Amino acid sequence: ERTVQRIAAGEVVERPASVVKELIENSLDAGATRVAVSVEAGGTEGIRVRDDGVGIPEDQLEAAVAEHATSKIGDIEDLDRGVGTLGFRGEALYTVGAVSRLTLRSRPPGADAGAEITVEGGQVGEIRPAGCPEGTTVEVDDLFYNTPARKKFLKRTATEFDRVNTVVTGYALANPDVAVSLEHDGRETFATEGNGDLRSAVLAVYGREVAEAMVDVEWEPNASDADPPVRGVTGLVSHPETTRSTREYLATYVNGRYVTASALREAVLDAYGGQLAPDRYPFAVLFVEVPPGDVDVNVHPRKLEVRFDEEPAVREAVEDAVKGALLDHGL
Ligand code: ADP
Ligand code: MG
Repeated sequence: ERTVQRIAAGEVVERPASVVKELIENSLDAGATRVAVSVEAGGTEGIRVRDDGVGIPEDQLEAAVAEHATSKIGDIEDLDRGVGTLGFRGEALYTVGAVSRLTLRSRPPGADAGAEITVEGGQVGEIRPAGCPEGTTVEVDDLFYNTPARKKFLKRTATEFDRVNTVVTGYALANPDVAVSLEHDGRETFATEGNGDLRSAVLAVYGREVAEAMVDVEWEPNASDADPPVRGVTGLVSHPETTRSTREYLATYVNGRYVTASALREAVLDAYGGQLAPDRYPFAVLFVEVPPGDVDVNVHPRKLEVRFDEEPAVREAVEDAVKGALLDHGL
């Protein structure tokens, strides 16, 4: 049974970045206002995510690491909302516990003390008292120590860290009201303030040069349109001369969720017209709102690739939105 468990785990937990993604989502689901991520050796040796969310009462720690255990009633509806799949419902902690040494430590706000449970290669240990701040800390050590075939697929630690950084950055920008920080081998990579301001989050993540080169995007459908295919486009995009040589900094979110969609990327690039130098890409943090039923995430659940029912309308709205923002700034 444990072998089956490990094979299944290898399919959903690909690498440190996928673990980090699940843990951050749990922290956000728990209503955290602070999420601190720290990793060792790109996450291959250790991953720790600490939050100040609602916590897990001692008598629910065991359930939290069990198979199919979820405390989230909204999950099934989420599946139908199009965007919103968390990857593996009620499975993340269980799955990660099968392929690592996992410690789940928590103290609900107001509780006298905390408690922790450990899982090692799927083997669930005793619940023990633990001194800890309010909230939850998840530690994942030695990922894939018991699945050497999977471990071999991991890249150099610098590459694994890049992926972790991309994931944490994605959530930091999508949740400017949450203070998100990232540390690698004891050194801080970035820390957002969590003050609700997107530009301040961009400053923390990408630095001053980029933050100052960003202009506001604010697009709404025509008020006379009763059922618009796009409900809003907001965010920030960079001046055409503030670019990088990869598309990596073109972040798009649909209904609050980080996605990749070539339609969105192309629409942004089209908006710049001929203003971008060859093979240069702008920075963008764009939030697109569409009716939930109009977006399809089935293309590849892990890659967060989406397609739109009303793709031409979405493209047009995004292009308009970005063009408008650049024009407003004389760009
Ligand atoms: P899911 O998120 O799909 O419910 P997980 O395996 O990720 O499944 O988590 C299992 C359960 O553990 C959650 O439903 C939640 O009750 C609890 N949990 C996990 N992480 C946290 C956290 N950071 N704060 C509070 N509760 C958590
Ligand atoms: Mg989860």
